[in-house]
Amino acid sequence: MFSYRHAFHAGSHADILKHLTLIHLVNYLQEKPGALTMVDTHAGAGIYNLQDGFSTVSKEADGGIFRLMQYIDTCKRTNTPIPESIQEYVGCIEAENIEGQLSTYPGSPFILARLLRPQDRLKLFELHPKEIDILRHKIGELKQSKRIDIYAEDSFARLKGLVPPPSRRGLVLIDPSYEDKQDYRFLEVAMEQALQRFATGCYAVWYPVLSRRESAALPDRLKKIAAAHKRSWLHTELRVENAPGERRLQASGMFIINPPWTLEKHLAQALPILTKALGINGGGQFVLKSFEAKN
Ligand code: SAM
Repeated sequence: MFSYRHAFHAGSHADILKHLTLIHLVNYLQEKPGALTMVDTHAGAGIYNLQDGFSTVSKEADGGIFRLMQYIDTCKRTNTPIPESIQEYVGCIEAENIEGQLSTYPGSPFILARLLRPQDRLKLFELHPKEIDILRHKIGELKQSKRIDIYAEDSFARLKGLVPPPSRRGLVLIDPSYEDKQDYRFLEVAMEQALQRFATGCYAVWYPVLSRRESAALPDRLKKIAAAHKRSWLHTELRVENAPGERRLQASGMFIINPPWTLEKHLAQALPILTKALGINGGGQFVLKSFEAKN
């Protein structure tokens, strides 16, 4: 436990899929004026320096956000249209890099904090002592910090107590490090308990696509949980490489319970571009499936 530092993975292809999806969920839920409570169960350090430290060691951002930005630059030079779904995500990353040069990557806490309206609340959970120190410091510098609570607690145990939020409008991002294979089981239990108390909440789970049994089984297990609660779902995966071995992460997925009706179209626009921009040796592929529950 506690060897995982998200700075090694900041701006990777997996972050792109997760954050592009997350931004759309928030934008959709904010179409209504009612207060929205957002819970980020696994926050990390919040914001990352791409020019220094862990991220320059792993170079994961090179195959992720740097590669995507190069692709966007080429589109702009050649007057190739960029779909709105990609523009929405890129706009959030650019907003943290106002000098023009890409040097900072916002993690989910910063993406959510920047999107917060006066009536919304954000709750962040983080267990790593160093990550939570950085998170507290960085979030404390934001003007919206009074609307953000940070907890040094196990979010799997706490989630059920946080839902439903008072306004009954909620978005929960569940993005564990899966350092411990028990995380898969903890996630399923937390999801089951949360749905029992708040069946209409929007839940977004990120997971790595690995041959490990627990990882391969997760989407089907989440489909079963959603079905037991008569909930709609959307499942997507983005693969950038199809090479033997799992030395580096080649694909990741998102599973959304109670997705907005607009999400499938949004991802159908973005995913072909992402596979083209980020795919290595023709290995770019995606999955996009959904199920609408009849209630
Ligand atoms: N969501 C972040 C983002 O998109 O920028 C990245 C989060 S990272 C994948 C997962 C984080 O969860 C790590 O920083 C880890 O220390 C933390 N963590 C692990 N188990 C936890 C738990 N049970 N409760 C809260 N945080 C936990």
